Amino acid sequence: MTAAQSAMQAGAQVKVVDRGRRIGGRMASRRLRDTGTPLDGRIVDYGASYFTVSDPDFRALVESMIEAEVVRPWTDTFHVHNEGSMVGVKTGPMRYAAPGGLRSIVEHLASGIEDLDTETHLERIEIGDDSVRAHDYRAGSVGLCMPQPQAARLLDPEVLPDTDITWEPVIAVTLVFEDRTWIEMDGVFVNDDPVITWIADDGKRRGDDAPVLVAHVNPVFAAGHLDDPSGVLPNAIAAVRRVLEIDALPSWTWAHRWSLARPIAALEADFWSHPELPLGLAGDAWAGGPRVEAAWLSGRALGRHFAAQTP
Ligand SMILES: Cc1cc2nc3c(=O)[nH]c(=O)nc-3n(C[C@H](O)[C@H](O)[C@H](O)COP(=O)(O)OP(=O)(O)OC[C@H]3O[C@@H](n4cnc5c(N)ncnc54)[C@H](O)[C@@H]3O)c2cc1C
Repeated sequence: MTAAQSAMQAGAQVKVVDRGRRIGGRMASRRLRDTGTPLDGRIVDYGASYFTVSDPDFRALVESMIEAEVVRPWTDTFHVHNEGSMVGVKTGPMRYAAPGGLRSIVEHLASGIEDLDTETHLERIEIGDDSVRAHDYRAGSVGLCMPQPQAARLLDPEVLPDTDITWEPVIAVTLVFEDRTWIEMDGVFVNDDPVITWIADDGKRRGDDAPVLVAHVNPVFAAGHLDDPSGVLPNAIAAVRRVLEIDALPSWTWAHRWSLARPIAALEADFWSHPELPLGLAGDAWAGGPRVEAAWLSGRALGRHFAAQTP
Protein backbone atom coordinates (compact mmCIF):
# COMPACT_ATOMS: atom_id res chain seq x y z
CA MET A 1 0.00 0.00 0.00
CA THR A 2 2.88 2.33 0.76
CA ALA A 3 4.53 1.58 -2.58
CA ALA A 4 1.25 2.38 -4.32
CA GLN A 5 0.65 5.56 -2.33
CA SER A 6 4.19 6.82 -2.95
CA ALA A 7 3.94 6.19 -6.68
CA MET A 8 0.52 7.84 -6.82
CA GLN A 9 1.73 10.86 -4.86
CA ALA A 10 4.53 11.24 -7.38
CA GLY A 11 2.01 11.22 -10.24
CA ALA A 12 1.89 7.59 -11.39
CA GLN A 13 -1.32 5.64 -12.05
CA VAL A 14 -1.37 2.50 -9.92
CA LYS A 15 -3.36 -0.70 -9.64
CA VAL A 16 -2.93 -2.85 -6.51
CA VAL A 17 -3.66 -6.57 -6.72
CA ASP A 18 -3.74 -8.92 -3.73
CA ARG A 19 -4.75 -12.55 -3.53
CA GLY A 20 -6.16 -12.15 -0.02
CA ARG A 21 -9.88 -11.83 0.64
CA ARG A 22 -8.88 -8.78 2.65
CA ILE A 23 -5.71 -6.74 2.42
CA GLY A 24 -3.12 -6.87 5.20
CA GLY A 25 -0.79 -9.71 4.25
CA ARG A 26 1.28 -10.74 7.23
CA MET A 27 -0.14 -7.86 9.30
CA ALA A 28 -3.00 -10.29 9.76
CA SER A 29 -6.07 -10.03 11.97
CA ARG A 30 -9.29 -12.08 11.95
CA ARG A 31 -12.55 -12.18 13.81
CA LEU A 32 -13.04 -15.01 16.31
CA ARG A 33 -15.94 -17.31 15.33
CA ASP A 34 -17.60 -20.30 16.99
CA THR A 35 -15.42 -20.06 20.09
CA GLY A 36 -18.30 -20.92 22.41
CA THR A 37 -17.37 -17.81 24.43
CA PRO A 38 -18.67 -14.23 24.45
CA LEU A 39 -15.58 -13.28 22.44
CA ASP A 40 -17.08 -14.23 19.05
CA GLY A 41 -16.66 -11.25 16.76
CA ARG A 42 -13.57 -9.99 18.57
CA ILE A 43 -10.52 -9.40 16.41
CA VAL A 44 -7.24 -11.21 17.10
CA ASP A 45 -3.80 -10.54 15.58
CA TYR A 46 -2.25 -13.76 14.28
CA GLY A 47 0.53 -12.45 12.01
CA ALA A 48 3.01 -9.76 13.03
CA SER A 49 2.99 -9.32 16.81
CA TYR A 50 3.69 -5.61 16.91
CA PHE A 51 6.00 -3.12 15.25
CA THR A 52 8.77 -0.76 16.33
CA VAL A 53 9.74 2.66 15.05
CA SER A 54 13.12 4.25 14.38
CA ASP A 55 12.95 6.15 11.06
CA PRO A 56 11.78 9.77 11.55
CA ASP A 57 9.36 9.66 8.58
CA PHE A 58 7.85 6.39 9.79
CA ARG A 59 7.58 7.90 13.27
CA ALA A 60 5.66 10.88 11.86
CA LEU A 61 3.26 8.48 10.11
CA VAL A 62 2.83 6.41 13.27
CA GLU A 63 2.14 9.53 15.32
CA SER A 64 -0.54 10.58 12.83
CA MET A 65 -2.07 7.10 13.13
CA ILE A 66 -2.02 7.33 16.94
CA GLU A 67 -3.87 10.63 16.60
CA ALA A 68 -6.38 8.91 14.30
CA GLU A 69 -6.72 6.08 16.91
CA VAL A 70 -5.57 3.49 14.38
CA VAL A 71 -2.34 2.74 16.29
CA ARG A 72 -1.63 2.54 20.02
CA PRO A 73 1.67 2.39 21.87
CA TRP A 74 1.51 -1.02 23.52
CA THR A 75 4.52 -1.69 25.76
CA ASP A 76 8.29 -1.54 26.00
CA THR A 77 8.59 -4.47 28.44
CA PHE A 78 8.17 -8.20 28.01
CA HIS A 79 8.79 -11.11 30.33
CA VAL A 80 11.58 -13.59 29.68
CA HIS A 81 11.26 -17.33 30.26
CA ASN A 82 14.56 -19.17 30.34
CA GLU A 83 15.40 -22.83 30.92
CA GLY A 84 12.03 -23.63 32.45
CA SER A 85 11.35 -20.58 34.60
CA MET A 86 10.29 -16.97 34.34
CA VAL A 87 13.53 -15.07 34.95
CA GLY A 88 12.35 -11.47 34.81
CA VAL A 89 11.47 -8.74 32.36
CA LYS A 90 13.33 -7.12 29.50
CA THR A 91 12.79 -3.52 28.46
CA GLY A 92 13.41 -2.41 24.89
CA PRO A 93 11.90 -0.06 22.31
CA MET A 94 8.22 0.85 22.41
CA ARG A 95 6.12 -1.77 20.61
CA TYR A 96 3.09 -0.49 18.77
CA ALA A 97 -0.18 -2.31 18.12
CA ALA A 98 -3.63 -1.46 16.77
CA PRO A 99 -6.95 -1.43 18.64
CA GLY A 100 -8.65 -2.70 15.46
CA GLY A 101 -5.95 -5.31 14.76
CA LEU A 102 -2.79 -4.74 12.73
CA ARG A 103 -4.68 -5.32 9.49
CA SER A 104 -6.55 -2.06 10.15
CA ILE A 105 -3.27 -0.19 9.72
CA VAL A 106 -2.91 -1.55 6.19
CA GLU A 107 -6.54 -0.64 5.51
CA HIS A 108 -5.79 2.87 6.77
CA LEU A 109 -2.76 3.08 4.47
CA ALA A 110 -4.93 1.95 1.56
CA SER A 111 -7.36 4.84 1.88
CA GLY A 112 -7.45 6.77 -1.38
CA ILE A 113 -6.28 3.77 -3.42
CA GLU A 114 -9.34 3.19 -5.55
CA ASP A 115 -7.91 0.75 -8.06
CA LEU A 116 -7.50 -2.20 -5.72
CA ASP A 117 -8.44 -5.80 -6.59
CA THR A 118 -8.52 -8.38 -3.80
CA GLU A 119 -9.03 -12.16 -4.15
CA THR A 120 -6.95 -12.02 -7.31
CA HIS A 121 -4.20 -14.61 -7.27
CA LEU A 122 -1.61 -13.79 -9.91
CA GLU A 123 -0.20 -16.96 -11.43
CA ARG A 124 2.23 -15.55 -13.95
CA ILE A 125 3.66 -12.20 -14.99
CA GLU A 126 4.96 -11.65 -18.52
CA ILE A 127 7.46 -8.83 -18.73
CA GLY A 128 8.59 -7.14 -21.93
CA ASP A 129 11.12 -4.32 -22.29
CA ASP A 130 8.60 -1.64 -21.43
CA SER A 131 5.34 -3.37 -20.57
CA VAL A 132 3.91 -5.97 -18.23
CA ARG A 133 1.02 -8.43 -18.54
CA ALA A 134 -0.49 -10.28 -15.62
CA HIS A 135 -3.95 -11.83 -15.34
CA ASP A 136 -6.17 -9.40 -17.31
CA TYR A 137 -3.95 -6.45 -16.55
CA ARG A 138 -1.56 -4.42 -18.69
CA ALA A 139 0.90 -2.00 -17.12
CA GLY A 140 4.10 -0.12 -17.77
CA SER A 141 5.90 -1.70 -14.82
CA VAL A 142 5.30 -4.05 -11.89
CA GLY A 143 6.45 -3.92 -8.28
CA LEU A 144 6.24 -7.18 -6.35
CA CYS A 145 5.89 -6.32 -2.65
CA MET A 146 6.00 -9.81 -1.18
CA PRO A 147 8.55 -12.39 -0.04
CA GLN A 148 10.91 -13.17 -2.92
CA PRO A 149 10.01 -16.91 -2.97
CA GLN A 150 6.40 -15.82 -3.71
CA ALA A 151 7.60 -13.46 -6.45
CA ALA A 152 9.71 -16.28 -7.91
CA ARG A 153 6.55 -18.34 -8.59
CA LEU A 154 5.38 -15.64 -11.01
CA LEU A 155 8.50 -15.18 -13.11
CA ASP A 156 11.38 -17.00 -14.70
CA PRO A 157 13.79 -17.48 -11.78
CA GLU A 158 16.78 -16.00 -13.61
CA VAL A 159 15.00 -12.64 -13.85
CA LEU A 160 15.19 -12.12 -10.06
CA PRO A 161 18.28 -11.18 -8.05
CA ASP A 162 20.38 -13.88 -6.46
CA THR A 163 19.79 -12.73 -2.87
CA ASP A 164 20.07 -16.13 -1.23
CA ILE A 165 17.90 -15.17 1.75
CA THR A 166 16.31 -17.95 3.79
CA TRP A 167 12.75 -17.49 5.04
CA GLU A 168 11.63 -19.21 8.22
CA PRO A 169 8.17 -20.55 8.93
CA VAL A 170 6.07 -19.88 12.01
CA ILE A 171 2.82 -21.47 13.14
CA ALA A 172 0.78 -18.97 15.14
CA VAL A 173 -1.50 -20.56 17.72
CA THR A 174 -4.46 -18.58 19.09
CA LEU A 175 -5.84 -19.68 22.48
CA VAL A 176 -9.11 -18.30 23.84
CA PHE A 177 -9.71 -18.83 27.58
CA GLU A 178 -12.75 -18.26 29.79
CA ASP A 179 -10.79 -16.03 32.19
CA ARG A 180 -7.41 -14.39 32.61
CA THR A 181 -5.64 -16.62 35.11
CA TRP A 182 -2.05 -15.83 34.22
CA ILE A 183 0.45 -13.34 35.57
CA GLU A 184 0.22 -9.67 34.65
CA MET A 185 2.29 -9.42 31.46
CA ASP A 186 2.17 -8.19 27.85
CA GLY A 187 4.21 -10.92 26.23
CA VAL A 188 6.87 -13.51 27.00
CA PHE A 189 10.05 -14.31 25.07
CA VAL A 190 10.34 -18.06 25.60
CA ASN A 191 13.94 -19.21 25.25
CA ASP A 192 15.14 -22.81 25.21
CA ASP A 193 11.69 -24.30 24.69
CA PRO A 194 11.37 -27.10 22.12
CA VAL A 195 7.96 -25.87 20.94
CA ILE A 196 7.29 -22.15 21.38
CA THR A 197 9.36 -18.97 21.17
CA TRP A 198 6.91 -16.26 22.10
CA ILE A 199 3.52 -15.63 23.72
CA ALA A 200 1.61 -12.39 23.17
CA ASP A 201 -1.23 -11.35 25.45
CA ASP A 202 -3.66 -10.25 22.75
CA GLY A 203 -5.99 -8.70 25.34
CA LYS A 204 -3.20 -6.38 26.49
CA ARG A 205 -2.03 -5.81 22.94
CA ARG A 206 -5.44 -4.75 21.73
CA GLY A 207 -6.27 -2.96 24.98
CA ASP A 208 -9.52 -4.78 25.86
CA ASP A 209 -8.02 -7.26 28.37
CA ALA A 210 -9.76 -10.21 26.67
CA PRO A 211 -8.39 -13.62 27.81
CA VAL A 212 -6.73 -14.37 24.47
CA LEU A 213 -3.12 -15.46 23.90
CA VAL A 214 -1.21 -15.95 20.65
CA ALA A 215 1.89 -18.16 20.75
CA HIS A 216 4.48 -18.71 18.02
CA VAL A 217 5.75 -22.20 17.39
CA ASN A 218 9.49 -22.27 16.77
CA PRO A 219 10.62 -22.53 13.13
CA VAL A 220 12.04 -26.05 13.46
CA PHE A 221 8.91 -27.53 15.05
CA ALA A 222 6.74 -25.50 12.65
CA ALA A 223 8.68 -26.79 9.63
CA GLY A 224 7.68 -30.35 10.55
CA HIS A 225 3.97 -29.41 10.60
CA LEU A 226 3.47 -27.18 7.57
CA ASP A 227 1.15 -29.77 5.99
CA ASP A 228 -0.82 -30.13 9.19
CA PRO A 229 -0.60 -26.94 11.29
CA SER A 230 -3.23 -28.18 13.78
CA GLY A 231 -0.82 -30.99 14.63
CA VAL A 232 1.18 -28.53 16.76
CA LEU A 233 -1.78 -27.72 19.00
CA PRO A 234 -1.35 -30.33 21.78
CA ASN A 235 2.33 -29.45 22.29
CA ALA A 236 1.80 -25.70 21.87
CA ILE A 237 -1.12 -25.61 24.33
CA ALA A 238 0.90 -27.61 26.87
CA ALA A 239 3.88 -25.27 26.43
CA VAL A 240 1.79 -22.11 26.94
CA ARG A 241 0.10 -23.55 30.04
CA ARG A 242 3.50 -24.64 31.42
CA VAL A 243 5.18 -21.25 30.81
CA LEU A 244 2.30 -19.19 32.22
CA GLU A 245 1.28 -21.75 34.88
CA ILE A 246 -2.31 -21.88 33.61
CA ASP A 247 -4.43 -24.71 35.05
CA ALA A 248 -7.44 -24.21 32.77
CA LEU A 249 -7.66 -25.59 29.27
CA PRO A 250 -8.38 -23.09 26.50
CA SER A 251 -12.00 -22.99 25.28
CA TRP A 252 -10.96 -22.58 21.65
CA THR A 253 -7.71 -22.91 19.74
CA TRP A 254 -6.61 -22.33 16.18
CA ALA A 255 -3.31 -22.78 14.35
CA HIS A 256 -2.32 -20.72 11.33
CA ARG A 257 0.66 -21.60 9.16
CA TRP A 258 3.03 -18.93 7.86
CA SER A 259 5.35 -20.80 5.48
CA LEU A 260 7.28 -17.60 4.77
CA ALA A 261 6.93 -15.73 8.05
CA ARG A 262 10.21 -13.84 8.17
CA PRO A 263 13.50 -13.61 6.31
CA ILE A 264 16.30 -14.61 8.67
CA ALA A 265 18.46 -11.82 7.23
CA ALA A 266 17.75 -8.73 5.19
CA LEU A 267 19.59 -6.57 2.69
CA GLU A 268 20.58 -2.98 3.34
CA ALA A 269 19.40 -1.78 -0.10
CA ASP A 270 15.91 -0.27 0.09
CA PHE A 271 14.57 -2.29 -2.84
CA TRP A 272 15.65 -4.02 -6.02
CA SER A 273 14.91 -3.05 -9.59
CA HIS A 274 15.84 -4.96 -12.70
CA PRO A 275 18.57 -3.16 -14.70
CA GLU A 276 16.67 -3.53 -17.99
CA LEU A 277 13.11 -4.66 -17.33
CA PRO A 278 10.28 -2.68 -15.68
CA LEU A 279 10.29 -4.90 -12.60
CA GLY A 280 11.00 -4.21 -8.92
CA LEU A 281 10.91 -5.99 -5.58
CA ALA A 282 10.24 -4.54 -2.15
CA GLY A 283 9.36 -5.85 1.29
CA ASP A 284 10.82 -6.77 4.63
CA ALA A 285 13.86 -8.56 3.16
CA TRP A 286 15.04 -5.07 2.11
CA ALA A 287 15.76 -1.77 3.86
CA GLY A 288 17.56 -3.55 6.69
CA GLY A 289 14.40 -5.58 7.63
CA PRO A 290 12.93 -7.94 8.67
CA ARG A 291 10.27 -5.76 10.20
CA VAL A 292 7.08 -3.89 9.39
CA GLU A 293 9.02 -0.63 9.37
CA ALA A 294 11.48 -2.02 6.80
CA ALA A 295 8.60 -3.16 4.58
CA TRP A 296 7.20 0.39 4.75
CA LEU A 297 10.54 2.03 3.93
CA SER A 298 11.14 -0.45 1.13
CA GLY A 299 7.69 0.02 -0.40
CA ARG A 300 8.02 3.78 -0.26
CA ALA A 301 11.40 3.67 -2.01
CA LEU A 302 10.11 1.36 -4.76
CA GLY A 303 7.01 3.52 -5.34
CA ARG A 304 9.13 6.63 -5.69
CA HIS A 305 11.51 4.81 -8.02
CA PHE A 306 8.68 3.77 -10.34
CA ALA A 307 7.14 7.23 -10.28
CA ALA A 308 10.50 8.73 -11.28
CA GLN A 309 10.56 6.37 -14.31
CA THR A 310 7.05 7.33 -15.41
CA PRO A 311 7.16 9.73 -18.36
C1 LIG B 1 4.13 -14.75 12.60
C2 LIG B 1 4.76 -13.44 12.22
C3 LIG B 1 5.27 -12.61 13.22
C4 LIG B 1 5.84 -11.39 12.87
N1 LIG B 1 6.25 -10.56 13.88
C5 LIG B 1 6.69 -9.32 13.57
C6 LIG B 1 6.99 -8.39 14.60
O1 LIG B 1 6.82 -8.67 15.78
N2 LIG B 1 7.46 -7.15 14.24
C7 LIG B 1 7.61 -6.79 12.92
O2 LIG B 1 8.00 -5.64 12.66
N3 LIG B 1 7.33 -7.66 11.94
C8 LIG B 1 6.87 -8.91 12.23
N4 LIG B 1 6.56 -9.79 11.22
C9 LIG B 1 6.88 -9.42 9.83
C10 LIG B 1 5.85 -8.45 9.23
O3 LIG B 1 4.59 -9.04 9.26
C11 LIG B 1 6.28 -8.16 7.81
O4 LIG B 1 7.55 -7.55 7.84
C12 LIG B 1 5.36 -7.22 7.03
O5 LIG B 1 4.02 -7.49 7.28
C13 LIG B 1 5.70 -7.38 5.55
O6 LIG B 1 4.81 -6.66 4.77
P1 LIG B 1 4.88 -6.79 3.18
O7 LIG B 1 3.78 -5.94 2.67
O8 LIG B 1 6.26 -6.55 2.71
O9 LIG B 1 4.61 -8.34 2.87
P2 LIG B 1 3.29 -9.21 3.09
O10 LIG B 1 2.56 -8.74 4.29
O11 LIG B 1 3.72 -10.63 3.04
O12 LIG B 1 2.40 -8.85 1.84
C14 LIG B 1 2.53 -9.53 0.60
C15 LIG B 1 1.19 -9.55 -0.06
O13 LIG B 1 1.35 -10.15 -1.35
C16 LIG B 1 0.20 -10.92 -1.61
N5 LIG B 1 0.57 -11.93 -2.60
C17 LIG B 1 1.56 -12.85 -2.53
N6 LIG B 1 1.59 -13.62 -3.65
C18 LIG B 1 0.59 -13.16 -4.45
C19 LIG B 1 0.09 -13.55 -5.74
N7 LIG B 1 0.64 -14.56 -6.44
N8 LIG B 1 -0.95 -12.85 -6.27
C20 LIG B 1 -1.53 -11.83 -5.57
N9 LIG B 1 -1.11 -11.42 -4.34
C21 LIG B 1 -0.06 -12.09 -3.78
C22 LIG B 1 -0.18 -11.52 -0.27
O14 LIG B 1 -1.56 -11.85 -0.23
C23 LIG B 1 0.16 -10.39 0.71
O15 LIG B 1 -0.96 -9.59 1.03
C24 LIG B 1 5.96 -11.01 11.53
C25 LIG B 1 5.44 -11.85 10.53
C26 LIG B 1 4.84 -13.04 10.88
C27 LIG B 1 4.24 -13.90 9.81
